[in-house]
Amino acid sequence: AKNAGRNRYAYFTPALQVAALNRMRLTNDLRGAVKGQQLALYFQPIVHLATGRIHKAEALVRWQHPLRGMVSPCEFIPLAEASGLILEIGQWVFHEAAGWAQRWRAEVDQAFQISINQSPLEFQREGVGYDDWLRHLRTLGLPGQALVVEITEGLLLDANTTVSDKLLQLRDAGIQVALDDFGTGYSSLSYLKKFDIDYLKIDKSFTRNLAPSSSDMALSEAIIVMAHKLGLKVIAEGVETPEQRDLLAHAGCDYGQGYLFAKPMPATDFDALLRAQADQ
Ligand code: C2E
Ligand code: CA
Ligand code: CA
Ligand code: CA
Repeated sequence: AKNAGRNRYAYFTPALQVAALNRMRLTNDLRGAVKGQQLALYFQPIVHLATGRIHKAEALVRWQHPLRGMVSPCEFIPLAEASGLILEIGQWVFHEAAGWAQRWRAEVDQAFQISINQSPLEFQREGVGYDDWLRHLRTLGLPGQALVVEITEGLLLDANTTVSDKLLQLRDAGIQVALDDFGTGYSSLSYLKKFDIDYLKIDKSFTRNLAPSSSDMALSEAIIVMAHKLGLKVIAEGVETPEQRDLLAHAGCDYGQGYLFAKPMPATDFDALLRAQADQ
């Protein structure tokens, strides 16, 4: 029995050890990433479907690792959450996004908005609100309307007083709220009425399967109609083809985001894109 145990040990452990070690190393490296200026904020346009114009952008964090190159947020955000580093990263993202929002609103489009993602862990942190955000916005002279906070449905499902308080705090500051990845969780439209949400983002898994008279098309249409009745605007994620764009526009979807329009890009590239659009 001892022998069999050792075999199992020998069979399973190396791969697990490598994965665990890899996570530990990456987490360690991540600790230095913020101060070491290895993070970059990319921007992906959010396009008004009826006019084809860029009104907003989603800010997406990137990590340029000195040895590994670009590490995907799908890989390092979970590590950042597990280690608590997400709070420091979130602060950095907020300051960076606010700075660009101020610049673009002042120089290109005074109604321009930037969306930033908030992990459940950031959003649910008890006792720590958005006071420092609001202070910084006041310092910049930037209205809350310049920013949208993207949260996921799960947060609202088991919403406690912390979550409700934070939503109210954002609302009081004029910061808008978007419900991200809609349709992937236990979607229920009831909490959309309970909480004051401004945007609903249809997940890319829906957009991908859009085809005339498909079930995903019917679902998307129903979601759009209901969202509008509740006073929300709808943003479709993962728009990759002109067909998807047209079907969504026809269904009354307000905004689209996806590779068809542009991939997430460095701020300087987005700056150029926005200025080129303004000149048209
Ligand atoms: P998300 O919030 O759902 O962001 C959308 C993701 O879809 C982005 O991946 C974006 O690059 C990708 N995407 C955009 N258009 C298309 C398309 O047409 N087709 C496909 N297949 N994908 C598209 P990304 O940048 O790798 O980010 C992954 C996730 O990491 C985000 O998902 C978000 O949950 C998280 N994340 C990124 N930045 C931050 C951040 O600053 N803070 C937090 N807490 N999470 C972040
Ligand atoms: Ca998002
Ligand atoms: Ca999303
Ligand atoms: Ca509303």
